[in-house]
Amino acid sequence: MSEDCIFCKIASGDIPGDIVYEDEHVVAFRDLNPQAPTHVLVIPREHISTINDLEENHAELVGRLYLAAKQVAEAEGIAERGYRTVMNCNAEAGQTVYHIHLHVLGGRPMGWPPG
Ligand code: 5GP
Ligand code: ZN
Repeated sequence: MSEDCIFCKIASGDIPGDIVYEDEHVVAFRDLNPQAPTHVLVIPREHISTINDLEENHAELVGRLYLAAKQVAEAEGIAERGYRTVMNCNAEAGQTVYHIHLHVLGGRPMGWPPG
């Protein structure tokens, strides 16, 4: 738990989040400023600032982010139509919250390449 991390506080329940999935390792909640009809963020309970901070021992945890994303997509009814998962790393990619999070976006057609 990082003292001043908003996503740690959502994971611990210190501040409310619209949680759609959680287990021992990960939490998924709706983005405050959704960019698509479904926009959910999947985070590890453990505070990890960026992809660059991942270690060998996080390999399973990163897999769990995707397994949770799959569950969310199924629950949201977008699994078959399609959805996008994105994890931004550092400023130039647009990372604004420094606790890794997998965006799960769907419910509308997605453009490529991303902006
Ligand atoms: P990033 O730009 O770091 O990839 O994504 C951060 C995301 O977190 C943004 O989409 C932003 O809308 C969302 N966000 C920022 N603060 C909060 C918050 O307090 N609660 C929730 N649910 N989402 C947040
Ligand atoms: Zn955190």
